[in-house]
Amino acid sequence: VFNFSAGPAALPEPVLRQCAAEMLDWHGSGMSVMEMSHRGPQFIAIAQEAEALLRELLAVPANYKVLFMQGGAIGENAIVPMNLLRGKTRIDFVDTGAWSQKSLQEAGKYGEAHVAASSAATGYDRVPPRADWQLDPDAAYVHICANETIGGVEYFFDPDVGAVPLVADMSSNLLSRPVDVSKYGLIYGGAQKNIGPSGLTIVIVRDDLIGQALPCTPSAFDYKTVADAESMYNTPPTWAIYVAGLVFRWIKDRGGLQAMEAHNRAKAAVLYDYLDATDFYRSPVQRDCRSLMNVPFHLKDKALDAAFLKGAEARGLVQLKGHRVVGGMRASIYNAMPIEGVHALVDWMQAFEREHR
Ligand code: PLP
Repeated sequence: VFNFSAGPAALPEPVLRQCAAEMLDWHGSGMSVMEMSHRGPQFIAIAQEAEALLRELLAVPANYKVLFMQGGAIGENAIVPMNLLRGKTRIDFVDTGAWSQKSLQEAGKYGEAHVAASSAATGYDRVPPRADWQLDPDAAYVHICANETIGGVEYFFDPDVGAVPLVADMSSNLLSRPVDVSKYGLIYGGAQKNIGPSGLTIVIVRDDLIGQALPCTPSAFDYKTVADAESMYNTPPTWAIYVAGLVFRWIKDRGGLQAMEAHNRAKAAVLYDYLDATDFYRSPVQRDCRSLMNVPFHLKDKALDAAFLKGAEARGLVQLKGHRVVGGMRASIYNAMPIEGVHALVDWMQAFEREHR
């Protein structure tokens, strides 16, 4: 099948094959990676290689720590303010939809969460222009959701927010294209889209933001504790780190993030070009903010939604139903989705349109 799930999402087939081949006996150790001590030499080598590859792919500067954590991006919505308030109270949020709202609500338990800009008035169809953001120079940090997985709105610029650290939830677009890490104080994301299985959370944080956590911060979620222990303060999600390492290697072997970007832009263009060429389907997002990863679309007549999904499934095009909050359809086309999957989807959309026009 071609799997359009928003996450947990399809993983590259060669990675899954390698997992299967090594499942019972990793490199002649007689053990599965799942059965290894996280403190043993084999797993430490696996984790170190995964981190080195991630650093290489993203060109992470030396003054940033890469942390392998747990709790997901929703956990980070609390963990970030606990670590980054640093004696301040205000946090500025750019509200672009469901995920930035979730971050804002959670942060409000720890600080004064303020909406610096919002696209609510236009139905979350865009990123509010940077010129409209009302930022407080004394805020602890500015938070954005770099790609709204539900609404399909993506940033195609790194916002300049002056000296205030910029924090980005990149759960659904990290590793889809190059990113200038130095423009961010902190980047976080759950792994279950472009990185690997769920259970692993990636945090990339600038050194100077570490070490000032609120006293109530659980030790396992204090970036200093995690960084000092090289992500082994408590037992990390070992299997997820191993699979993530295989995905990083797969990306590198395919030409790194520039190659991923070209592949992702080509796929997204196939789908958006068709959406723009017909009035039978509609994209709800402004052109310059359309996500390369998550493509929501609506049928002209939503009474046809169930028939569309049923026919799609019959053709092996699965998990296309849109999020319940917005309805309609959503095609998530992460790195592992081949362009053939997008062509197969557009073929089906055209056939369905001809039948029901
Ligand atoms: N933020 C974004 C942008 C997401 O797409 C998701 C979805 O999984 C989350 C946060 C929630 O992440 P998790 O389920 O890993 O906590």
